[in-house]
Amino acid sequence: MAKATKVIRVDRLDQCANTGKQAALKAVVAEWRVQAQILANEQWFLWQYTGQCNKMHGRKYPDSPLGAARVQMCRHQVVGVIDGHLASLADQFKSMVAQSSLTTEQKHRLYRINKARAWQHRLPPTFKTAPFVDENDLRLARTLFRRLLKTHRKPSFRFINVVMDERAVKCAKASDSKVVDYWLTLPTLERDGRQFRKIAVPLKSNDFAEGRKGQRLTTWQMNLNKDGVLSFGRLTDVKKPFEQSVETYQVRTPVLALDWGMNTLFASSEGDLLGRGTLDKISALDKTICAIARGQQRHGLKPRDSARYCAKVSAMRGYLKTEVNRIFNRLVATRAPGHLVVEKLDFRNPNLSKRMNRLISNFGRGVIKDKLADLGSKYGITHEEVNPAYTSQECHNTACGYVDRRNRDGQQFQCRACGKQQHADVKAAKTLRHRCSDDALKPLHGRTAILDVLVRRYLERFDRPRWSALSRPRSRGAALDPRLSNPHFADWTAKARSLHGL
Ligand SMILES: [Zn+2]
Repeated sequence: MAKATKVIRVDRLDQCANTGKQAALKAVVAEWRVQAQILANEQWFLWQYTGQCNKMHGRKYPDSPLGAARVQMCRHQVVGVIDGHLASLADQFKSMVAQSSLTTEQKHRLYRINKARAWQHRLPPTFKTAPFVDENDLRLARTLFRRLLKTHRKPSFRFINVVMDERAVKCAKASDSKVVDYWLTLPTLERDGRQFRKIAVPLKSNDFAEGRKGQRLTTWQMNLNKDGVLSFGRLTDVKKPFEQSVETYQVRTPVLALDWGMNTLFASSEGDLLGRGTLDKISALDKTICAIARGQQRHGLKPRDSARYCAKVSAMRGYLKTEVNRIFNRLVATRAPGHLVVEKLDFRNPNLSKRMNRLISNFGRGVIKDKLADLGSKYGITHEEVNPAYTSQECHNTACGYVDRRNRDGQQFQCRACGKQQHADVKAAKTLRHRCSDDALKPLHGRTAILDVLVRRYLERFDRPRWSALSRPRSRGAALDPRLSNPHFADWTAKARSLHGL
């Protein structure tokens, strides 16, 4: 991947324009969104036939009230969104191939096609070095990619922001006013001869936006949210200040693992329990959300049609986002990690309703991915996702490694084999950290493959059952070999029993 030339951050500024100006701008947003969808259809068509999008494709004088310049800006934005979508599909393509039963050579050739984003090409791409790909590989790649396209909805442009550069917007500092900080001049849809009529919007800044370090760009965002509130976003290129902070950042914890906790949002492998109140608050919101949803369904309505439901869901999302940001910032301040290990981001908490789990896992994944990417560009903190299967059941004593469902009892972890104790969530985070350097477990996908290795490993260490415990009548406190009643070790138990005639 090419190194990013810019790292963009957007700061929101509130506007205080009168209703007439606002109406004119809302009309621009509406038109922009219609146009974006038209351009997206064009680009998808182009992609399908040539395998590529093209920012310059299209008529020079388009039939749109926005005018040629703004249509071109919109196209630029649309191609960016589609490229982003294709990039995320490329990631999924990679993991789909990794989990398949193809041979290693086949996998390498498919990765190559994926990296070149050539799924849709007519002819196999030519590479200077091996492995070379042929038509069969390309056909297979295309079939797999089409399956991904089918299962992942194309990006929607219904609520897209308007992104305009200096060809359309001009920003000036308001010198004489205490109420207004900036004046933003931008064109409406009404024509005044050959030109578009322009209006000036008063903007109110805030400390956060003013304190943002970096190179201010001439590009602005205009947002209209679902409640009809219009706001503006100023773009800043923060590459330089971020590079400086990467240089000055001093790592104190080389590898830090995080586990989604049961009672706290995260537990770290250093023993931190972070976000104690978060889940309580989410549970409370969950109760309200479910109650509204039930009420709606009783009347044959969809939950989404209730304004209260939507407000509560967006409150929950806002809260989770703030919490995740707060927790990660705190972790950086206290632990200064160099590399973060997180479980494959699939949030499930049995104490929350199915609906809430779905809402959080759909949304939480995005929030955390964004934050991890942010920490990467800001401090150079790397991260990886690890398969968390059985991390809550596996003993973290490296000389033991016994895996048993009964090892965990609520918040407490106690190994049935070696007796080691620890807070269950912290232990899970520690196991996660070990797992990222475990070459046997790391490439495995799915749960059973992991369990097989864990069980085999334990049996290689401790093959003989504790017969003394077996032959003795089971008195209270007698240490019976826990494997004999552990379904994970059923095969071994059966063999042991038949061998010894029990
Ligand atoms: Zn143990």
